[in-house]
Amino acid sequence: MPISRPIEPLVATDDELRAALEDAFLPALLPALAQATGDFSILRESLRPPGVAPGVQQGGMTPAQQAEAKEVAFEALKRLRDGQVSGEVPVEEALLRITAWMTGSPVSEDYVPLLLEELAPEGQDPRAPAWRKDPSVPFSVIIIGAGMSGILAGIRLKQAGIPFTILEKNHDIGGTWLENTYPGARVDVSNAFYSYSFAQKNDWPTHYSTQPVLLEYFQECAREFGVREHVQFNTEVTLLQWDEDRAEWVVHVRRADGTEEELRANAVISAVGQLNRPKIPDIPGLERFRGPQFHSARWDHSVDLAGKRVAVIGTGASAAQFIPEVAKVAGEVTIFQRTPNWYVPVPHYHDEVPAGLRWLFTHVPHYAHWYRFWLFWNTTDGLLAAAKVDPNWPDKSRSVGPENENLRQLLTAYLQMQFADRPDLLPKVMPDYPPAAKRLILDNGIWAATLKRPNVRLITDKIREVTEAGVVTADGTLYEADVLIYGTGFQASKFLTPMRVLGRGGKDLHREWDGDARAYLGITVPGFPNFFMLYGPNTNIVVNGSIIYFSECEVQYVMGCLKMLFDRGERALDVRKDVHDAYNERIDRGNLERVWGVATVNSWYRNEKGRSAQNWPFNLIEYWQQTREPNPDDYEFIRQPALAGGD
Ligand code: NAP
Repeated sequence: MPISRPIEPLVATDDELRAALEDAFLPALLPALAQATGDFSILRESLRPPGVAPGVQQGGMTPAQQAEAKEVAFEALKRLRDGQVSGEVPVEEALLRITAWMTGSPVSEDYVPLLLEELAPEGQDPRAPAWRKDPSVPFSVIIIGAGMSGILAGIRLKQAGIPFTILEKNHDIGGTWLENTYPGARVDVSNAFYSYSFAQKNDWPTHYSTQPVLLEYFQECAREFGVREHVQFNTEVTLLQWDEDRAEWVVHVRRADGTEEELRANAVISAVGQLNRPKIPDIPGLERFRGPQFHSARWDHSVDLAGKRVAVIGTGASAAQFIPEVAKVAGEVTIFQRTPNWYVPVPHYHDEVPAGLRWLFTHVPHYAHWYRFWLFWNTTDGLLAAAKVDPNWPDKSRSVGPENENLRQLLTAYLQMQFADRPDLLPKVMPDYPPAAKRLILDNGIWAATLKRPNVRLITDKIREVTEAGVVTADGTLYEADVLIYGTGFQASKFLTPMRVLGRGGKDLHREWDGDARAYLGITVPGFPNFFMLYGPNTNIVVNGSIIYFSECEVQYVMGCLKMLFDRGERALDVRKDVHDAYNERIDRGNLERVWGVATVNSWYRNEKGRSAQNWPFNLIEYWQQTREPNPDDYEFIRQPALAGGD
């Protein structure tokens, strides 16, 4: 069954249409119907949705607007069903008219080419390379990692006819979605956006898919696009070495049976992720604990938690998902929280996509695309303002600017409402740092409901040590436990570890970085020719978007770099240090204008030097513009060794 399926014929009775409309997301349905019917009078001024805010449904449309919108949509659906339409409007024209309706003014011209890519009609893939490598030019690529971005790189290389191999340390495809099998694991970006632009599904079972559904999606993509057969599983890369004489990479691997081998490739694409190596906390006595202990990303499913006393250390995005599930079966759950989270109300976070909405997605042309557009437009760059630092803001300890303060008040009110009946818990769960300084956690009320369970207790005292019997806090209290679970996150700032990377002149990448990873566009590093990173330094996003969007931009750029080599008859490219340095200075300035760059609260968004080496501080379009096509002036080119000095 293909991932993206064609729209099905719209056959339904009036009653069935009305029933489906009860589940419709109206701010995106009206645009889809306008485009499909060619009737833009559907987009009445009076029906313009006010926009999104946390917890607000239907784009903030009033009940009266919703009722009117349903009537308008019903009439349009009938006309579409009965073939009484003037015909489709080209997507460019539709885009301008629809965005003008949605936002009150036409979309800025800068965005049009990006949005045309995002809104490509079903079955089209404008980001696919429109070129193929000359088969007579010998050139091969090794990709490290078969997760979301490694698969994507494989798809694009295949489309360009470039031979490649993917080396994967695990036994299967999926990366983070293979490894994180903890109960309750799901994505916290709506699936309409957290999916490849060219492999859109209009039948996601839930708005925010669970781990098994996502794993299946990425495995299906790998199969459908013919990437799976290029993967060598159970193969870990230990060392990359640039061979100056041959201008190619020597890739040292260790197989599952312990044997070691050297492979060669002209270019290497690292797709190893940022949140990959679990962080086990540095707490004295962990090894003394007598029961099972494991990390959220290495969940031990052989341990039956039913009736057990479970201690959990950490309350980040992973723990916020698995604790509610553990609490349902465990006898007792003791949560050790160091820093509370801000929770964003998303009432439908765990909900299935209702039957009517799913039916409309599969039967109304363009609906799923306009829904994706709505999310893109309203939940990405628009949110960035809430993270902006106002240099004149007097006290930056609780908020860093007016929009950030608005967000703080909104999220404070949400916590107050959730814990109104538990004044004992409220002070423990209320953050004292600005929102978006750490990852915001989506919530549908489950966190408060879990903390209020009789078998759950929240401990905010500092942990002193772990003993054979449990966890001891600073005041000497022992909290006995049978099982210890770490929801303590990842070694996010240790990019590419434990792999060693030796570039030109034997330059060691980790020594160069010295714990403070940097790259040009997050992709290339001076002295490491033809070495490209996906989800590299400063390509994580905090509030505005989906990592898949970034991966698509990165892969587009890498493909552009390879094309540049082929077009120029060069062997390798190495980014100029001055270009790289100037870029990073700008990134650093940008991050200091965002709350995560200035707040002092613990977070994986800053490295041991205190610098934000993870996050992208600007809007989405800027990254897209910068990665659309590489600039040859940014690079030094390395000739084919056989030709060097010969012309
Ligand atoms: P995390 O956000 O880094 O959270 C780690 C937790 O462990 C924090 O509560 C941290 O406390 C605590 N901790 C760490 N060391 C500790 C120590 N020595 N003593 C006590 N507590 C300690 O890790 P995560 O929850 O795995 O999430 C990481 C990222 O993965 C997220 O930010 C998100 O980007 C991604 N993620 C996404 C999803 C999703 O899409 N649904 C789900 C899970 C994860 P402090 O806060 O005080 O540091």
